[in-house]
Amino acid sequence: MPPKKRVEFLNRRLRGIVQHAYKHSVAVRNKLESAGLKPKDIQTVKDLGEIPVTKKADLVELQKRNPPFGGFEAVPIETLRRIYVSPGPILEPGEAEYEDLGWAQAMYAAGFRPGDIVINTFSYHMVPFGMQMVDNSLRQAGCVVVPTGVGNTEQQVNIMKSLRVNGYCGTPSFLLNLAEKAEEMGLDCQKDLNLQVAFVAAEMLPESLRSRLEGKFGMRIRQSYGTADIGCLGYECSEKNGMHIPDDRIVEIVDPNTGKHVEPGKPGEIVATTFNKVYPLIRFGTGDLSLLSEAPCPCGRTSPRLIKILGRIDQATKVRGLFIHPGQVDEVAVRFPQIARYQVRLTRSAHKDEMTFLVELKEEDAQSDELKEGIERSVRDVMKVRGEVKFASKGTIPDGAKKIEDQRTWE
Ligand SMILES: [Zn+2]
Repeated sequence: MPPKKRVEFLNRRLRGIVQHAYKHSVAVRNKLESAGLKPKDIQTVKDLGEIPVTKKADLVELQKRNPPFGGFEAVPIETLRRIYVSPGPILEPGEAEYEDLGWAQAMYAAGFRPGDIVINTFSYHMVPFGMQMVDNSLRQAGCVVVPTGVGNTEQQVNIMKSLRVNGYCGTPSFLLNLAEKAEEMGLDCQKDLNLQVAFVAAEMLPESLRSRLEGKFGMRIRQSYGTADIGCLGYECSEKNGMHIPDDRIVEIVDPNTGKHVEPGKPGEIVATTFNKVYPLIRFGTGDLSLLSEAPCPCGRTSPRLIKILGRIDQATKVRGLFIHPGQVDEVAVRFPQIARYQVRLTRSAHKDEMTFLVELKEEDAQSDELKEGIERSVRDVMKVRGEVKFASKGTIPDGAKKIEDQRTWE
C-alpha cells in the first residue's frame, strides 16, 4: 500500500473501532469521557494523541475493580472461545473467532510457506501466545503445525528428524538447547535435520546468537515483537533491518510522561491500538522503548519499521542530560565475547553524574588495559556518554540484575 493510502486505510479503521468500542466497551467509553472526548473527535491517527494511554499497571488495577477484563471487552463473556491468563495477573479474552492477521504476516515474512511442517515450542498453557497467536497464525499461513510446546528436548529432536520438520517457532535460547541436544545425540544439525526457517520471539536475539544458530542449522532466523494483550507489533523481513508494523495495527511512539508523539526518529514508548472488536485496546502502552523508521525497505513492504527494541521504559534514564537505555548496554557488551556479565551503575559525585560500566569476564586473567580502553571506546560510540570500565570478580553482578542500576541520590 502506498503511504498515503495506508494513512487513509488506518484512519478509516480507527474511526470504526473507536465508534464500536465507545458503544460496547465500558473502559474505552470511560477513557474517552475522562478526556472530554466523543468518538467524532477521533478522525485520524493524529487525534489519537488526545486519548490517555492505558499502561499495563492500569489494566491490572482496572481488572481488579471490574473483573474479569476491566471493562475493555466488547462482547458478552459467554460468546468467548477461551480465556487466557498472563503474568500480572492479566486476563485476556480469547477471540470468539481468530481473525487477526498480524502474526501470520510475520510468519510469511520470516519465510514460512504453505505445506511447511513446523514445530511450535511456545507454551500452550495459560498465556495466549502459543495457541491463539502462533498456532492459529501458522494455520493461516498454510503450515502444518506440530504442537510440541515447551521442554522434552530429546523427543523434539526425534520429531524433527522423523517428520523432516523444516520450521521452528520458539525462543532463540530453546533453539540453541535443541541444537546442543541433537549434537549430544550424535546428530549433525544440517545433515540429519531439515530446519530451514525459524520464527523467534519473547527474548532478545543478539546478532551473535542469530549467526551462530543460522550457521549451525543452515537456516534463516527472523524475530518479531508483540505483547500478549495486543498481538504482533513488528516483524522482520528478509532484510532484517528493523521490524515492519503489521497492516492492521496503529503503532505510535510517544513521550512516556506526556503520551504525546515524539519527533520522527526519536526514541519513545511503543503505544498500540488494535482493531480487535472483541477486546478493543485503544492506546495501550507497552512499556517498551523503540524508534520508528519510515524509510523505504528494499523488501518492497511500505509499512514503517520499529528499529529494534531498546529496553523497558522504566529502565531508561538520563545521564548528564542524555537518554541511555538497556539496549545500548547490550550493544556494547555483544562487541566483546570475553564479557560474561555486565551492568551500568550510575552514581553522583560532586554534583555530577558518573557512569561505571561494570564487567565480569569469562576468564578473569583476560583483564587488560587494552580491553578496558576498547570497551570504554565502545561505550562512547554507542551510548554517547563517557563511562569508566571496571572489572569485577565473578559473582559481583547478581542473577537477573538490571542492565542499568541507578544509585544516584540528589541530596
Ligand atoms: Zn522489509
